[in-house]
Amino acid sequence: MIDTRLLSGRDVSQAVYTALHHQIRSLKSKGITPSLAVILVGDDPSSKVYVKSKSRQFEKMGLRSETILLPEATSEAGLISFIEELNQDSTFHGVLVQLPLPRQIRSEKVIRAIAPKKDVDGFHPENLGLLTTGQSCFIPCTPKGILKILSHFNISTKGQHIVVLGRSNIVGRPISILLSSKNNNGNGTVTLCHSGTSDLKTYTRQADILIVALGVPKMITRSFIKKGAVIVDVGIHRLPNNFEKGYEIVGDVDQQSVEGKASAITPVPGGVGLMTIAMLVENTVEAAEIQSH
Ligand code: NDP
Repeated sequence: MIDTRLLSGRDVSQAVYTALHHQIRSLKSKGITPSLAVILVGDDPSSKVYVKSKSRQFEKMGLRSETILLPEATSEAGLISFIEELNQDSTFHGVLVQLPLPRQIRSEKVIRAIAPKKDVDGFHPENLGLLTTGQSCFIPCTPKGILKILSHFNISTKGQHIVVLGRSNIVGRPISILLSSKNNNGNGTVTLCHSGTSDLKTYTRQADILIVALGVPKMITRSFIKKGAVIVDVGIHRLPNNFEKGYEIVGDVDQQSVEGKASAITPVPGGVGLMTIAMLVENTVEAAEIQSH
């Protein structure tokens, strides 16, 4: 049995916030408060929780975050013209549209409408193109947070076989590109798996580092992993149970099952999720810095 190390996002996010305080003070001394506009369309309960925790963290850091609530029936054109107004509003440095959006709105059209310099989520094709070609850009918050966790705990990616499960534009695809890039945080050999992959275990069992972003609660169990693997569990789900709270938060990995076989794992909650918020704060401060010149 291996002693499985917990890669807590708590310490790492705190280190990020501490490092940002100085930069925030310096911006404020010039009369600039990094500010984020968050647009929430409709009543999705999980989205409301995410938006609330983002704005709570902004408040804690003395930053400005305004949530704009739009009705479920908002049209795509209506949302886009709203975003265009925010693009012109110099008091906001970042503009974020909480996903998922109601059916009548195509998220790719909406993301394209956000000015790339205000795209603190890093989802705009211009930023994703820059990321792919190794140029400076807003890196999507969850992949950026994963890189920070790995480097904070001195987990080297160079020469490692890294298997990424999931190819979404917000997690799997960008983290696979970043981890295979030629730089200190990358240089891994990356295999990207998805629902078209036949026999997932063939790949997961070879992984030195396994990044799991499937959106399927507790899918990855002991038999999927190699002894000593490092596991990054991106998934986050609220599962009902019979205990006091009535639910538990779980990831895409059955954490109990891999304990003693994995060498390290990010906990859920308290892992990648905390880093996603920390990176949103960092990207917004960066946007304010860039726009101040
Ligand atoms: P998506 O649903 O957009 O993507 C899931 C990916 O997993 C897809 O590529 C899909 O394949 C693949 N997949 C699904 N089921 C299987 C399977 N059985 N076998 C192989 N591949 C499969 O999810 P996201 O990337 O947006 O999110 C993933 C998870 O991470 C979710 O639980 C989400 O809640 C969580 N999340 C957490 C964040 C955090 O801050 N902690 C931030 C963002 C997301 P295909 O492409 O073929 O459909």
